[in-house]
Amino acid sequence: MNQRSVLIIYTGGTIGMLADPRTGALRPMDLAHLEEQVPELDRMNVRLGSRSFETPIDSSDMRPADWVRIARIIGEQYNAYDGFVVLHGSDTMAYTASALSYLLEGLNKPVILTGSQLPIGTIRTDAKENLITAIEVAAGCDEQGRATVPEVAVYFEYSLYRGNRTVKVHAERFEAFRSPNYPRLAEAGVHLKYDRSAILPYREGALKVHDRMNDQVGVIRLFPGIRAEWIQHALSTPGLRAVVLTTFGSGNGPTDAVFIAALRETRERGITLVNATQCFGGQVEQGRYTTSQAFVDLGVLSAKDMTVEAAVTKLMFLLGQGLGADALAEAFCASICGEVTP
Ligand code: ASP
Repeated sequence: MNQRSVLIIYTGGTIGMLADPRTGALRPMDLAHLEEQVPELDRMNVRLGSRSFETPIDSSDMRPADWVRIARIIGEQYNAYDGFVVLHGSDTMAYTASALSYLLEGLNKPVILTGSQLPIGTIRTDAKENLITAIEVAAGCDEQGRATVPEVAVYFEYSLYRGNRTVKVHAERFEAFRSPNYPRLAEAGVHLKYDRSAILPYREGALKVHDRMNDQVGVIRLFPGIRAEWIQHALSTPGLRAVVLTTFGSGNGPTDAVFIAALRETRERGITLVNATQCFGGQVEQGRYTTSQAFVDLGVLSAKDMTVEAAVTKLMFLLGQGLGADALAEAFCASICGEVTP
């Protein structure tokens, strides 16, 4: 079989950072710095190419336009490589992975996001293993040369996850990600063990790169004692198109009349409301308790077992497609690429 090829797309993040000599704060460095630190790359039996953001960024500065920028690079280089590794800060990696999974329609090659908790130049870094194994996954294929993981995934600390199912769960541990409602796609030990039943099936066909996201989306996290005026104020933001309410348990919220009236008035203005749970695992079941019945009555959409990251980016993506309220509601509740259990 021909040598496999992987394009590394460097966007920034801790993996390529160095400490500022004056303040000690970490700041992104260029791709050359990163490559210098991993001489092992030359020994891999994979042809590597690279692209970099002109100015690498901390992922806290990622915006929807940057997700589109990454998707476009993949689209332009799609036929030249067998797989793609996106080097990215871990803080907002779950959002980027979710957005890319929607933007890259018909993807049948691996797009593996990875990064690290310690910069690649530090002695105890987790970056090298993450990078090397991510490349191995991106290059993986069967005897016919079809990708083993034809989807957007996150590789971090010996685990491969479906990208749009991930959540960053730890600010310090190397094991920084989890996929609370979906099994791991692979585990890396002595062998790379794939769970083929969890991976999206390979499909023939062309890639379509979408390039529009609409950021008129908000998130309101409920808490006991949240003031209805505050919610009313947030919901009356000019231009707002959709809001994710992060609710308690299986999708419950206060029954306070002012709160419900604010939601009703918002729905009457044609704004889409989504109910996503604050719980780490499990799913929204509207109507199970009386404290979620109002959401059913008001036509609030259930995010079911989607992560907040997957729900927010899905709304941005669907609004970007110019869908009207009904089509948007239907598309939101269906699975685009495995982000929700049907
Ligand atoms: N602040 C960094 C970022 O997200 C953290 C990391 O890379 O892990 O860019």
